[in-house]
Amino acid sequence: MLDIAIIGGGPAGLSAGLYTTRGGAKNVVMFERGMPGGQITGSSEIENYPGVKDVLSGFDFMQPWQEQCFRFGLKSEQVNVERVAKKGEHFAIHTDNGDFEARAVIVCTGGSPKRSGVAGEDKYYGRGISTCATCDGFFYKGQHVGVLGGGDTALEEALYLSEICEKVTLFHRRNEFRAAPVTVAKAQSKENIVFKTPTIIDEFLGDSKGLTGIRYTHKDTNQQETLELNGFFVFIGYDVNNQILLQEDGSFLCEMSKFGEVIVDLNMKTNVPGLFVAGDLRIDAAKQVVCAAGDGARAALSALAYLEHHK
Ligand code: FAD
Ligand code: NAP
Repeated sequence: MLDIAIIGGGPAGLSAGLYTTRGGAKNVVMFERGMPGGQITGSSEIENYPGVKDVLSGFDFMQPWQEQCFRFGLKSEQVNVERVAKKGEHFAIHTDNGDFEARAVIVCTGGSPKRSGVAGEDKYYGRGISTCATCDGFFYKGQHVGVLGGGDTALEEALYLSEICEKVTLFHRRNEFRAAPVTVAKAQSKENIVFKTPTIIDEFLGDSKGLTGIRYTHKDTNQQETLELNGFFVFIGYDVNNQILLQEDGSFLCEMSKFGEVIVDLNMKTNVPGLFVAGDLRIDAAKQVVCAAGDGARAALSALAYLEHHK
């Protein structure tokens, strides 16, 4: 029987791991299906974490977090969690590698990049279409790539790509951007970033080798055009990873918002005693590393108090 199971090893999960183990919990396991670090490891840079002056890649930034946790006794399982369910007073953690039981659970499964659903996307995904500039930008060194989206991710990654690629053409369905104005201004000042707004991507085009370009429509004029491109990056937000809370009868283990986020209070408590949720999966998440880390710490303190009162 685990004292605490932490699901997900992003900033929220790793902070929860640090605070639970350093707070005295003895048998804490973090379940992570990939490499710890979370979605920020796919980002080319992070420069807004308080106290860290250097601009680091997301991967480099997250590297010390796990080492710090393991120093205080956090154990980890690299495995996909299928479902968390109630089992009597406790919780059952169903994984691809067997079942575990835990007295308390902190779920920190974050989110995953959204796909556009445009014709040809599945066909050329991984063969010219990507959702990670850090991973794949280098493949298009000196070439022409497209970017879809108008949020912080699209604009920041367009800037990153503009340093590697000869030209970046950014497509967005509106003339206004969700991204921070300072980031938009920075992108607009780059000579090799071209903005195409308001536009809709109609189809990704390609041949047997992969993506060759796109067909798109200007919304103002309804004029359709094709553009040859070497690569294309889709940055249109992401879905919360709430599937592990889905029960066999189709209901969720705890209360959820209409957007599929978990409803928690300021202590990261769900409506199920002993179940805590932290980070991008929760309602009203600011979707920032520093906030996810704060959530993870708060959830850990709540879980420790829960165990103390349910000995
Ligand atoms: P995540 O980071 O999503 O971590 C969740 C973890 O859970 C993942 O490692 C995942 O593999 C794991 N997981 C999911 N499901 C399962 C399962 N079933 N079983 C086991 N493991 C599972 N924020 C900033 O503050 N500054 C930035 O500059 C910044 N840049 C960003 C750039 C990009 C490209 C993106 C996408 C986001 C950026 N963000 C930035 C936002 C930030 O990355 C997130 O807010 C933060 O990572 C959320 O942390 P989290 O721990 O809640 O979730
Ligand atoms: P986002 O803020 O949700 O923006 C998604 C963008 O994609 C929007 O501009 C949206 O258009 C567009 N879009 C959505 N679906 C589309 C579709 N099917 N076809 C075409 N366009 C579509 O997502 P994000 O940029 O990934 O950011 C996610 C969160 O992480 C945000 O809270 C963001 O602030 C945060 N983040 C922060 C930083 C930072 O602080 N440095 C960096 C990256 C991300 P509309 O605007 O028209 O809806």
